[in-house]
Amino acid sequence: MTLNRREFLLKAAALSGAGALFMMPPDLRALASTGAAGTTGRAGGMARPVILPDARKVDSRLGIDSCIWNWRSDADPNGARPANYYEASLSEWPSFASLPGDLTCDVVVVGGGLLGASTALHLAEAGVDVVLVEKDNLGSAASGRNGGQMTPGLARWKASAVAESLPPDEAKRLWRFVSVEAMELVDQIAARYDLDCDRKRGHVTAAILSAHMGALVADADARRALGDGNVSIVGPNELQEYVRSDNYRGGAIDAIGGQIHPLALLRGLAFGLVELGGRVYEGTEVMSVKEAVDTTVVTTPFGRIKARRAVVLAVHASTFRFVPGHSTTLPFFTYVGVTPPLPTDLRDLMPADLPVYDTQLQIDYYRAVRNNRLLFGGEGTGSSWSVKEVNRYLRKRINAVFPQLANPELEYAWGGVCDMTLHGAADCRRSGGKVPVYMVHGWSGHGVAQTVRIGKAISDDVTGRNDDFGMLTHIDHAELPLGRHLAPVAIPLMKSALGVMSVLKPGSLISF
Ligand SMILES: Cc1cc2nc3c(=O)[nH]c(=O)nc-3n(C[C@H](O)[C@H](O)[C@H](O)COP(=O)(O)OP(=O)(O)OC[C@H]3O[C@@H](n4cnc5c(N)ncnc54)[C@H](O)[C@@H]3O)c2cc1C
Repeated sequence: MTLNRREFLLKAAALSGAGALFMMPPDLRALASTGAAGTTGRAGGMARPVILPDARKVDSRLGIDSCIWNWRSDADPNGARPANYYEASLSEWPSFASLPGDLTCDVVVVGGGLLGASTALHLAEAGVDVVLVEKDNLGSAASGRNGGQMTPGLARWKASAVAESLPPDEAKRLWRFVSVEAMELVDQIAARYDLDCDRKRGHVTAAILSAHMGALVADADARRALGDGNVSIVGPNELQEYVRSDNYRGGAIDAIGGQIHPLALLRGLAFGLVELGGRVYEGTEVMSVKEAVDTTVVTTPFGRIKARRAVVLAVHASTFRFVPGHSTTLPFFTYVGVTPPLPTDLRDLMPADLPVYDTQLQIDYYRAVRNNRLLFGGEGTGSSWSVKEVNRYLRKRINAVFPQLANPELEYAWGGVCDMTLHGAADCRRSGGKVPVYMVHGWSGHGVAQTVRIGKAISDDVTGRNDDFGMLTHIDHAELPLGRHLAPVAIPLMKSALGVMSVLKPGSLISF
């Protein structure tokens, strides 16, 4: 499908129901009609991201936090930093320049992960003059480093918790939002912008104890009560049609979740944003956000940006920097590795090609990616593990699940930072000022699809289309005083406590 810029804008506007061209500020309308390059912080047009047949051995062009790392088995330890699997398996991608100086716009989105990019894209589709600023590069943090598994729920908040916490109609509405709507939105965006993200539908939760089957049935039943009949329960023999490991006693098959190449999705969102004239600035760290009478002002080392309508903090585990008072989240580190192409055909081990989570306290999750490689993730730690520890841990876990693979090496491994709330639901807030500040954090290790959906909800809130974001702000969160500072101690303590609980209540699904 090839569209010129004007056709593209009209199509996006029609599909988003926004009448985008007519609501656009005059400078963007002029861009749309002339087909001139957008004010993207760099010259020239922008190509869609392309997923390569296999990952290459390349150095990373992404800046990353000093507390996380990428490793590749044959990379020169004294050389440049290797790319992680996702970056290495995508076509070349340009960087965006830093903020050139002071400017004014309708909305500033801070943070170039899935949440920030989705919010900015939806605002641009609605004709809002939006600027996206990122301190490193788009996809430098969790959105370019996660497991790529798409599961329903508000982060870790499952159907039963939603049903217990809210009146029935609100629970149904919230569940639909974080399940069907979240998954469908990802698919709609991919279709709208003709993106290839290796999106596949279907997801397996495999029970490591027979006692966990009751909890899987209860969760499927809670989903059904909320109007979602997309999950079915299978016994140990039927599970073999999905995953051939002796570790499991049965499982749940979810028809709407699945998997995706998360960095391809993120770059696809950015592609759409730039096509619509949204401005993106990388290497631009936001130092402060201040609400004044008629504007909210974002300060960076290169200048100030005045927002006329809203500021969106999509900075995930860094949100604590901008939130006064006690935090509601604890940061933690978590890890992913990818094997080289394997001699055993992974379709023999995962015949349905669906990604798998298990039900352990410290879950294993895995899926096949291009060229018969296995992507495997797990663990959550209070302090960052070394490459050696991660290699040892992930290889041990792969061997425990699939001894048939004869203990494969890892070719890529990396760490990432997440933050968690006490009950596992993402914490969504909006300040009460005239030019409000929105923020979402506490993803609790989940959120690939939900970041995209919540980004749309923020955009809809700014443009007054609906109150979906308001629904999310009503969820209560416990404060975790000093959570950030205590994480290296609190995370292991919490895991020990959860471990004791899982022994005392073997039928409960308790996972970190
Ligand atoms: C290793 C790992 C595995 C995971 N696996 C899964 C999975 O399989 N399935 C799933 O659903 N979820 C998974 N997650 C969670 C998921 O990745 C996150 O929920 C999601 O990516 C959060 O997106 P985000 O845009 O809010 O945050 P991020 O992707 O972290 O983006 C935040 C951005 O803000 C930028 N930023 C921070 N501070 C500033 C500042 N002051 N100024 C400007 N920019 C700033 C950062 O550089 C970053 O790019 C995983 C996470 C990790 C780390």
